[in-house]
Amino acid sequence: MSQFSDKTNNYAAVRRAAKLRTRFAPSPTGYLHIGHARAAAQAFDFARLNDGQCLLRIEDIDHTRCKAELTIAIYEDLDWLGFDWPLPVRVQSRHYDDYARVIVALRERELIYRCFKTRKEIAASSVNGIYSGCPASDEAEHLAANHPFAWRLSMNAARDALGGTFDKLKYYESGVIPGWTQISPSRHGDVIIARKDIGTSYHLAVTHDDAAQNITHVVRGTDLKESTDIHVLLQTLMGWPVPDYHHHKLVLDEGGEKLSKRRGSKSIRDLRASGYSREEVLNRMTFLP
Ligand code: GLU
Repeated sequence: MSQFSDKTNNYAAVRRAAKLRTRFAPSPTGYLHIGHARAAAQAFDFARLNDGQCLLRIEDIDHTRCKAELTIAIYEDLDWLGFDWPLPVRVQSRHYDDYARVIVALRERELIYRCFKTRKEIAASSVNGIYSGCPASDEAEHLAANHPFAWRLSMNAARDALGGTFDKLKYYESGVIPGWTQISPSRHGDVIIARKDIGTSYHLAVTHDDAAQNITHVVRGTDLKESTDIHVLLQTLMGWPVPDYHHHKLVLDEGGEKLSKRRGSKSIRDLRASGYSREEVLNRMTFLP
């Protein structure tokens, strides 16, 4: 067994002994709706019931979709809902340098490679939606021509770096289907670690920040459970602690679909303006538009 798995297991033990710390990490791409309110309640309640702490983190690396006024709205809505959180709030768009440093570290170990392909080319060379590539043979020409590129994590390089541990990576799940959960990152192919347009990615920023903020338990919806494969792999490659995960069920609409503004879910501020109380917004049994 390699040093990595020992490290992972030691960290897990240390984490369980430490004071619990979780976070609620919304992205300011729209006004919060009831699904967010109840997800926030899961994270804040989890901390309160376990004598821990819940941080708020603003995940706004995607400047093509996030807006500063929506970040302010998140503070206002969460405050109206009765949550409070320690200051300062970590706002990811102020930390691109941190993410760039991780890219350098991964690159020095040849765990990531530049990908100049277009979306269309990726789709054409993927098998069942899974892309596995390698550094471009004409990389020098692309660089000389200033072509934009994404950084992709090489699953083959990760397997080589971790040896037998690669197939034994696991994390502790305390939410849906509790217990030690084995991951299989290679089923995702060579995922993007830094996007062409923003120089980082959700996977990179979220795992970096969970480590930087000493998050012991990640409480989030089951829609992100699949991403945990990538997160645990990155944490292990970077020598970051692997937190425990608590994936909770999502609030679904009457048709069984995830709530979203696009599907007509009202924002918390609309509900508030219509006269609903914070208790009604947070109460799972209350049907709201
Ligand atoms: N920012 C992500 C979202 O709004 C959540 C990230 C996480 O909890 O891991 O969906």
